[in-house]
Amino acid sequence: MSEESEKFQNPVAGFGVTFKAMFKRRLTEQYPEEQKVTAPRFHGRHQLNRHPDGLEKCVGCELCAWACPADAIYVEGADNTDEERYSPGERYGRVYQINYARCILCGLCIEACPTRALTMTNEFELADSSRENLIYTKEQLLAGLTEGMVDSPHALYPGMDEGDYYRGAVTGAAPGTVRQTAVSQGEKDEKDKKDESDEKAKEVDA
Ligand code: SF4
Ligand code: SF4
Repeated sequence: MSEESEKFQNPVAGFGVTFKAMFKRRLTEQYPEEQKVTAPRFHGRHQLNRHPDGLEKCVGCELCAWACPADAIYVEGADNTDEERYSPGERYGRVYQINYARCILCGLCIEACPTRALTMTNEFELADSSRENLIYTKEQLLAGLTEGMVDSPHALYPGMDEGDYYRGAVTGAAPGTVRQTAVSQGEKDEKDKKDESDEKAKEVDA
């Protein structure tokens, strides 16, 4: 091919690609004005689940953190007590954090979780300009309360043990269940609140 004919044919070939693309189906998505529905099993933001009575499923075992290839999960477990019970068994997740600046949404953590405490939602709008905001805390990750639930901490369903929860025998909070005081989280019980107000009253009198 002569140099002159190459000079003519090359631009024509280039425009040929453009013309072909003009008649193809458009793939442009008008995000965020039009939100695309994700696949049902899409890997989005995590959620820490609850039992039907509101107690937490997480037992603070850290298996999810060990399974994570990006070192994005931080867990600190602690013991439940009768006065402050967060989960049906011996231990619960006192501190739980996921760092979304590291997470690659691979789902290995949810596969590792022995209690199905950790699952993934379809929520994908996780971008933020602050690293601090990308570290989600337990309070942010914990599932909301649905009908029949009482917020943790609270007592076990009377007459039931941890196994009964996993066998599905507990379908909601027992009548009269009340939320306990989260002393380990810095909350004050009624006695402490009364002592504090008595102290203040004494200071005012003096
Ligand atoms: S989805 Fe993957 S990267 Fe993200 S926290 Fe779980 S294991 Fe780690
Ligand atoms: S989310 Fe599951 S794997 Fe992770 S600490 Fe809690 S119980 Fe263990």
